[in-house]
Amino acid sequence: LDLKNDDLRKLADLGQGNGGSVVKVEHVPTGTLMAKKIVMIDAKSSVRKQILRELQIMHECHSEYIISCFGSFLAEPNICICMEFMDKGSFDSIYKKIGAIDINVVCLVAHSVLEGLTYLYDVHRIIHRDIKPSNILLNSEGEIKLCDFGVSGELINSIAKTFVGTSIYMSPERIQGAEYSVKSDIWSLGITLIELATGQFPFCDVEDDDNLSDLEEERGSDSDDPSDLKNKTPTHRDSTFAFNKRNKNKRLSKRASKGMAFDADGMSSMSIIELMHQIVREPAPRLGPQFSEEEEEFVDACLMKDPDERHSPKTLLEYRWMDDARDSTFDLRRWTTTF
Ligand code: ADP
Ligand code: MG
Repeated sequence: LDLKNDDLRKLADLGQGNGGSVVKVEHVPTGTLMAKKIVMIDAKSSVRKQILRELQIMHECHSEYIISCFGSFLAEPNICICMEFMDKGSFDSIYKKIGAIDINVVCLVAHSVLEGLTYLYDVHRIIHRDIKPSNILLNSEGEIKLCDFGVSGELINSIAKTFVGTSIYMSPERIQGAEYSVKSDIWSLGITLIELATGQFPFCDVEDDDNLSDLEEERGSDSDDPSDLKNKTPTHRDSTFAFNKRNKNKRLSKRASKGMAFDADGMSSMSIIELMHQIVREPAPRLGPQFSEEEEEFVDACLMKDPDERHSPKTLLEYRWMDDARDSTFDLRRWTTTF
């Protein structure tokens, strides 16, 4: 399929993230619906061409757990990647709409992500690098697929140069500067599963917002140097920097009044650094007592803080909970019609 920008008719905006935006388009000559990702890249033309070459690998990814790719092209100054459109969107928008996701669905998500990661690594030696609810997509066929995996080293470099490469799903070892491995993806999966099953990002159980502002005042609001944190101890050991919706507006206005910078998610650079600090220092989050032993056992295994103790996708596929996924009679297709 020879893709040209002129042949694509925009139908809707699907969303925006760090480094790009995604629109729903129709490929007019064939009538095919697609999701077009537009990535702004500040790079030389030789680098752009290298990126396009590397993106070719996406065409060779054929798995029911991976988004298929129709093609990519340059539309200066952007790179456009046209992929399979998933009509039920990503799991972050789903849980923000309907609340905590049925654990039977979360089980199927875990299984699909592990199968997808195993495929990417075994067949193409690709590490995903960005597992999070917004990169796990659903369609009304009841299929769950991964998107936005790290196929292109040059693209990763270019985006990293343009944007701050922090993710709130980052593993403790990555935060401390280790290279990416499949194990880092497993940590991100563990965080993602808790977020979907509880309807909340796990590092956000602070009730007392004033505690947060005390800390900021103590440090000086213009300091965003992570090395500062070493010398300070939070007033409560178990306090985390909350950024759930309930507290967000209050904090945003507080920070805005101090003239602090925000990233795309509206989180200040200060709270991201504190969150990273928490991930490294505090015990890993857990699923909680309302869940079964099998479910807890699996999520705990994903969230081993030491990457050497954390299992690979293949080993995790042998866990009891993943047998449940394979034997599942849950009607995912029907579930997609309920929202
Ligand atoms: P992020 O993943 O950080 O949210 P992206 O730019 O990768 O940012 O994607 C923006 C949004 O576009 C995603 O949250 C998702 O809901 C939507 N999206 C991405 N790819 C597709 C797709 N293939 N089909 C449908 N929706 C998509
Ligand atoms: Mg994405």
